[in-house]
Amino acid sequence: MELRLDGTHYPLETLGPGKRLGVWFQGCSLGCAGCMSRHTWDPAAGTPATVSEVLALWRRALADGAGGLTVSGGEPLQQAAALAELLAGAARLRDGARRREGSAGHRPADLLVYTGYEPAELTPERHAALAGADAVITGRFRVAQPTRLAWRGSANQRIVPLTPLGAARYGPYLAREAPGPRLQVTSGGDGELRLYGVPLRGELLQLERRLGQGGVALTERSWRP
Ligand code: SF4
Repeated sequence: MELRLDGTHYPLETLGPGKRLGVWFQGCSLGCAGCMSRHTWDPAAGTPATVSEVLALWRRALADGAGGLTVSGGEPLQQAAALAELLAGAARLRDGARRREGSAGHRPADLLVYTGYEPAELTPERHAALAGADAVITGRFRVAQPTRLAWRGSANQRIVPLTPLGAARYGPYLAREAPGPRLQVTSGGDGELRLYGVPLRGELLQLERRLGQGGVALTERSWRP
């Protein structure tokens, strides 16, 4: 099955516990004010990919001992069929790897999905698309409700564990800060800087200032209209 992606990154260390594969779906119509990923809004932008191609990245990440998969966007539930297939395939590969490794292997990898939909907006179709996930982080980004809660951009967003693994992995962080770094920066060969994680209010402005002081001018920013 085909899907539209904004991109992928491994190892991602700022959106969920441990070293993870990050997968960002393209397309979001929710339009949160203050969204830092406006480049993911246009459903026709990004790049085409297949679920199999993403699963090949997941297989490699598992072989490297990844702690989990984080699917974000964009809005993953606006490509619900592809999300369902990706999560089902990711769970199969994870469970197969566990069976081969036995109890001496890595900790089981968890599957986490970010959605801007509120729990009350999760229709049966959306619930079905999330069936393979271990946990979901729900809710719009609300710029007026800043937070330091782990892996969340605003205080209204909720971590909802969906499986025993999700409860074990995310239960301790429902009301706590994340243990590791909040932001990760990588640069592509094309001069593009990519930021992964959830900045605190004002941190993007600070980053722009610091880069400017170091002689680096940003020509476009995904967090500005
Ligand atoms: S914060 Fe998430 S849900 Fe809101 S507009 Fe941005 S990508 Fe969409």
